[in-house]
Amino acid sequence: MEQWFEQVFFFPSATTTGSAGVVLSCGIHGDETGPIHLIQTIHQLLVTGHLQTQRPLLLIYGNPNAIRDNKRYVDFNLNRLFGPTSHTGAETLRAGDLMSACSRFQRQVGHVACHLDLHSTIKPSLIERFALRPINNRCSSIQWGTHLVNAGFGGLVQQSHRTQTFAQFTCDSLGCDSFTLECGSHSQPDITQFEALKNWILTLLADPGFLNQQASRTTANSTFKHFVVKEDIIKTTSQFKFLIDERTPNFTLLPIGTDVYEDKNGILKTSEARYTLFLNSKVEIGQRAGLLLSNI
Ligand SMILES: [Zn+2]
Repeated sequence: MEQWFEQVFFFPSATTTGSAGVVLSCGIHGDETGPIHLIQTIHQLLVTGHLQTQRPLLLIYGNPNAIRDNKRYVDFNLNRLFGPTSHTGAETLRAGDLMSACSRFQRQVGHVACHLDLHSTIKPSLIERFALRPINNRCSSIQWGTHLVNAGFGGLVQQSHRTQTFAQFTCDSLGCDSFTLECGSHSQPDITQFEALKNWILTLLADPGFLNQQASRTTANSTFKHFVVKEDIIKTTSQFKFLIDERTPNFTLLPIGTDVYEDKNGILKTSEARYTLFLNSKVEIGQRAGLLLSNI
């Protein structure tokens, strides 16, 4: 094991050579303790020799300063800084370190199979655990829908705008399959909720052929939901306000004709049925205050 930056650890493959690498990250938002505990558990298994990874692994605690202070970020939302930015501060420097670590990882291992960036949501969700996939023009041979079901996820949201998230960066720069995994809400940091994900990750690391195997389908496949982002709601002025209760859980259905928010350009009314995600009017001006999805 090598430490490349603060809280960034490289584990070479224990025995096999040539297997594709995996990037696991958590704590990009420092107060998302459930996923951090899950990664700490896996980290302990590796360090104590109870788990030997058969793939090269880059294991990342995203924002150590914010994790220490148990807050979302110190200066700025780290998950918007993986790319060109005019922001300066602790998170900008950290994003630079993490991008360097990922590039070094790819140079060293050749091929990176996937990056899983573990988060938890601020508010409860009607689909408790779900994945977001960045914009990706490649076709993957991996049956991600079935893998996500087996890892305990109930839905997949396909992004339709490019944002400077960690997952979008690794997808673009490493050419791997990247996901932001929302592993439940802050209010439920109980690690036992993550048992399916933990077991899935342990198998991923222990079996280099696992991702490309025909994943066995379960009955949960039929309830797995697919969404696509139809609108990024950007807070453009201080007058921005939601006209619906923004405390409603993620994936709340807004019927056609719902007045969603008001800003300097007037009121946004839904022209089709939409589902809510990450509504939060308290973000800084210019930042995303939520997403509207359609079910596909
Ligand atoms: Zn997060």
